[in-house]
Amino acid sequence: TIESLFDLEKLGVVGHGNGGIVYKVQHLRNSSVYALKVLRFENENFHLRKKAVGEAEILKQVDSEFIVRCHGVFDSGGDTENGDLCFLMEYMEGGSLNDVLRVHGSLPENVISGVAKRVLEGLSYLHGLHIVHRDIKPSNLLINGQGEVKIADFGVSRVLAGTFDASEFCEGTCAYMSPERFDSDKWTESWCNGFAGDVWALGLALLECYMGHFPLLAPGKKPDWVTLMCAICFIERPEIPSTASSEFKSFIYRCLEKDWRRRGTVTELLRHPFVAKQNTGLVDSF
Ligand code: ATP
Ligand code: MG
Repeated sequence: TIESLFDLEKLGVVGHGNGGIVYKVQHLRNSSVYALKVLRFENENFHLRKKAVGEAEILKQVDSEFIVRCHGVFDSGGDTENGDLCFLMEYMEGGSLNDVLRVHGSLPENVISGVAKRVLEGLSYLHGLHIVHRDIKPSNLLINGQGEVKIADFGVSRVLAGTFDASEFCEGTCAYMSPERFDSDKWTESWCNGFAGDVWALGLALLECYMGHFPLLAPGKKPDWVTLMCAICFIERPEIPSTASSEFKSFIYRCLEKDWRRRGTVTELLRHPFVAKQNTGLVDSF
């Protein structure tokens, strides 16, 4: 275990997110490489910070090959209410699915099927612990040096989502929000079944991998809140390109079923023919 941030040397920046910077770091003595996510909190956000510290406790209990490991949480503020919060994570050499899409444009079905299988395994583990991820999206699905996809960032980005201005908020997190989360009645009714929201977000993320852009909006469009909400709540079924196989279409439609009660569950989807025959699940196989 790593006792102190002073044991680590920064090798470079690997990415920026909403309110945080991710560094590649190396342990000074045993030379292991990690990713260090540094979240900056301003004074007025101390309650969010407190929440993030709480969420970090959940993170430390999680132990699955389908989820990016958290090796420790460091609180540079000590007992004070501000200062940086640092998450030491498993380093994922291949970056995020978002990075992969930026390079390759889109992904073929056989690769998407492997991604789907691993993310479903990860969600099955989390849901088994009664943990809802709530922020499944391409930038939170990371790839290691072996091409294996893992889920990252649960809890942390969820807590952070409220801290930034509306446009960033929309872009970062709301785009993958399920229709029931916009409906306060249904939301109260379904709050204990937030699991269905993770399945919706997975469906959108996988369809985005296939199409190369966010599936509910025209490519290259920067959505405002209203456009996005209308797209999520009023489009009956998103258009899937006709090149897609019927298995893929059927899988995506089970994820993007608008009524959360009728949506596919993780258990059901793991048995779906689109993923059931998949065993490699590597992203570097194309
Ligand atoms: P959000 O803040 O909404 O989560 P985001 O996911 O883009 O948005 P970060 O989680 O801060 O932001 O991650 C930024 C980028 O850093 C990612 O897209 C990814 O490329 C990289 N990254 C994050 N975690 C790791 C990691 N453990 N190993 C390697 N790269 C990572
Ligand atoms: Mg992230």
